Amino acid sequence: MEKLISVLGSTGSIGTQSIDVAKKHGIEIYALAALNNYKLLAEQCIDTGAKIACIYNEEHKSALEKLVSSYGVKVVTGDEGLCLIASLKESGTLLNSVVGMVGLLPTLTAIENGKDIALANKETLVAGGELVMKKAAEKNVNIYPIDSEHSAIFQCLRGNKRSQLKKIILTASGGPFFGKTLSELENVTVEQALAHPNWSMGSKITIDSATLMNKGLEFIEAKWLFDLKPEQIEIIVHRQSVIHSAVEYADNSVIAQLGCPDMKIPIQYALLYPERYECDCKPLSLADYGTLTFERPDMETFCCLSAAIEAIKRGGAYPCIVNGANEQAVGYFLNGRIKFTDIGRIVSGALERFEYNEINSYEDVKKWDKLAREYADENI
Ligand code: MG
Repeated sequence: MEKLISVLGSTGSIGTQSIDVAKKHGIEIYALAALNNYKLLAEQCIDTGAKIACIYNEEHKSALEKLVSSYGVKVVTGDEGLCLIASLKESGTLLNSVVGMVGLLPTLTAIENGKDIALANKETLVAGGELVMKKAAEKNVNIYPIDSEHSAIFQCLRGNKRSQLKKIILTASGGPFFGKTLSELENVTVEQALAHPNWSMGSKITIDSATLMNKGLEFIEAKWLFDLKPEQIEIIVHRQSVIHSAVEYADNSVIAQLGCPDMKIPIQYALLYPERYECDCKPLSLADYGTLTFERPDMETFCCLSAAIEAIKRGGAYPCIVNGANEQAVGYFLNGRIKFTDIGRIVSGALERFEYNEINSYEDVKKWDKLAREYADENI
């Protein structure tokens, strides 16, 4: 395998697993980027032989340089550093697994430079979906999803005619609070919200899974990735996370992708596409599960989900607005400044706060993201 990739968000859950997958399959790593964890980033650079390291937060620059300078690693920082990595001639695919809106600019930069994207940063498509997909089509760039649901849909779409697709069925685990009422959710703690039943992930996405905002973001992500109308996306709560999503064709045939919940499968599929090789994950034993269950989501209690769906139906800047308000609110919840149920209140409030506006540029995305965060700040 003569593939050279760069990984943004390399010290996070997806990033570390991506490095494992790359090493196992002989994919070389040219550059790595992390937010704050310079010690692990240094270890990763030394271990993989990466030539460039971006530590987003500049205050760790000299500490990182001390650890890696004798290995010939160049250290860069901030958005500039991320974009430098995204535009490197030497590296092929950009694996983007940073958390939040900060992932959008490097994605756009990589597309501009003709690089394929392995995308685990869903906020990229939520906040800037229209821009990203337009640019990707223009530059003939492929976007390989590293979200388990979107990878499943991507796999189920292979070998069939796109024109014969009727709809997609996006599965949701339901998170740790499935079946709870709004009053029961009032006083849940950060620790309870961080205890996801099936997946082990970073804290932002785990809170998003508890509010079901994650599924709302994935709904928007799916709309852009697969060029769907909102009416073509159905969300089903499937507690076991074995069916990762499904697609329905014109003849009512439904094709699903199944597996144990392990992100190595979608990471590997994105990096090795269209090949399938051995993967370091548990094989699925359906008999061990015995029963798989399916239910409709409770859109009233989990109002982040309904707000996100409403946002993409309205279009324009609305998805960017709910995303920005949510990112800000989740930060406040993790810091103990607001209650769990306040996240939904802030996200729904932001949706109603602004008139319809178009998004025509990255500057538009930044502007609406900022206004949404300010709304969240004023309403905590
Ligand atoms: Mg997912």
